[in-house]
Amino acid sequence: MIKPSNSHVSRRHVLKAAGFGAAALALPGGLLADEAAKKNKTHFFTLSFDDGFKKSSLQTAESYEKYKLSACINVIATAHLPDFVLPNEYHRWPVGDFGLWNELQSRGHEIMPHGYKHANKRELPLAEAKDLIRRCLDYFSKELKGFDPKKAVFNFPFNASTPELERWLPSEVMAFRTGGPPVNPLPHRGQSKLTCTNYGPDNTDAHLIGEIDKWLAEPSGWFIYNTHGLDDEGYGPLSASVLDRILGRLVAMPHVEIVPAARALTAVSS
Ligand SMILES: [Zn+2]
Repeated sequence: MIKPSNSHVSRRHVLKAAGFGAAALALPGGLLADEAAKKNKTHFFTLSFDDGFKKSSLQTAESYEKYKLSACINVIATAHLPDFVLPNEYHRWPVGDFGLWNELQSRGHEIMPHGYKHANKRELPLAEAKDLIRRCLDYFSKELKGFDPKKAVFNFPFNASTPELERWLPSEVMAFRTGGPPVNPLPHRGQSKLTCTNYGPDNTDAHLIGEIDKWLAEPSGWFIYNTHGLDDEGYGPLSASVLDRILGRLVAMPHVEIVPAARALTAVSS
């Protein structure tokens, strides 16, 4: 099981070295130590992977596991079904199913909803958009082990939300992700709107690296960037080798926390 943060991993290592067993992690003092360790984190980092391509999702998970990190993977409820209608040409690669999503979740990764059928909610009447989101959350509740909408982040297809949906959604889910500036306030209780940017349809490497450098130059902030597949899959694909380099670079920075979106918010709301 992957621990959700570097601070957990390094603490466990330290505790082990000091002769403490795993039980020490459950002590209240241990929890306080974790919170204290987290206070030194000025920069939070989330790559938010959409659309659930099978090959890319497996490769993304392995890339994060190399650094004992958890990936943030957002999938379409019905994309694995035979009658699924592709929203556009950027969805033409094979996708995973809930067998794979449950497996990746059990390996420590975060699996979150990215729509019932990847509809653009800005182009639909409000009632229809709400109905699709409810059906998406119902589907996840049935198919994804332990899924709780109140602890979920709904990731808008096309990052396309409306003011009406944004007002309504916090009654259904913990938070939602939509389009906007990539640097958000650090995770805090009651934070329900997350914004992100992305780049496409060509390779996203250079754009992502440029945005990361801008974020690192700021005194603090939670960087959320929407990616899709790796190498040759999806809209604005990210090179697998570049993902590896980015994770390796950031994991070595003590002030950076690499964390999936819902986990970042759950940690501050409990
Ligand atoms: Zn999508």
